[in-house]
Amino acid sequence: MKIGFIGLGNMGGPMAANLVKAGHTVTGYDVAGVTIDGASSASTAAEAATGADVVITMLPNGGILRSVADDVIPAMKPGAVLLDCSTVDVESARDVAAQAAKAGVGALDAPVSGGVGGASGGTLTFMVGGSQAAFETAKPLFDIMGQKAVHCGEAGNGQAAKICNNMILGVTMIATCEAFALADKLGLSREAMFDVVSTSSGYSWSMNAYCPAPGVGPKSPADNGYLPGFAAELMLKDLRLSQQAAEAADADTPMGEAATALYSQFVENEDGLGRDFSAMLPRFETKSRG
Ligand code: NAD
Repeated sequence: MKIGFIGLGNMGGPMAANLVKAGHTVTGYDVAGVTIDGASSASTAAEAATGADVVITMLPNGGILRSVADDVIPAMKPGAVLLDCSTVDVESARDVAAQAAKAGVGALDAPVSGGVGGASGGTLTFMVGGSQAAFETAKPLFDIMGQKAVHCGEAGNGQAAKICNNMILGVTMIATCEAFALADKLGLSREAMFDVVSTSSGYSWSMNAYCPAPGVGPKSPADNGYLPGFAAELMLKDLRLSQQAAEAADADTPMGEAATALYSQFVENEDGLGRDFSAMLPRFETKSRG
């Protein structure tokens, strides 16, 4: 396929490289001037989109996605598909899809989980919203860049799945960290805490697969000085998107709201910026009740 790839950062760069490796013709564009070996470089987003069968975007936020969509949709050929893999708000995803439909272009919102490791290893999971026809067009590309693509329904539903999942993740990570900090103060060893909880009803991905306590459970960022991994500021971004969506949909999400407030405090007023999101555990260790 002929692919335009816009946004060649930590995630987009390796994803584009995997498409090149698989034999697709890739034209890349990034405002920062990043280039990819084996891909040609366009000097504008519209140029990268011209003549492409699929245009992939991997951008920081919904505002930037909207402005890039304004540039690329008019340049795309009829029947081509705009495949946005960024994590953005549901409303931006739905608006961009509607704009694409008006121009006779397909659109998918397909945010990912798996992080930078998944992007370079081609093992991402895609959560996809949009038409079945557009999903079928993009399927061979999901197979190269990832290990799984779940079609979640109409436009915006991929973003909805992503932010609901990450709201659970933020909440369970905080719960796991505060429970470890309480267990410490009660004199329970971390090993005993892990052994019990990981096989009891308090288990979760945060405890079992990504344990925030160093030296306990499988290797995780806690064993690497809390270097990300999944940075606390990216968790904060996703939690804020969940609260923006909850506000718009009039959904009551008190735990999501509390998690957002705590990560915002950690990232913006404490030392959370640039640390893994599981560094909530050393944060709780420094706190007392009052
Ligand atoms: P990044 O900041 O490394 O990359 C974004 C790239 O977009 C940058 O290279 C930037 O120069 C480029 N860009 C910005 N504005 C542009 C424009 N107008 N036109 C062209 N290029 C533009 O971010 P990232 O870590 O690659 O994340 C990208 C998206 O993936 C985000 O939405 C993020 O939330 C999501 N995500 C990231 C991770 C992760 O672990 N990094 C995991 C899952 C999802």
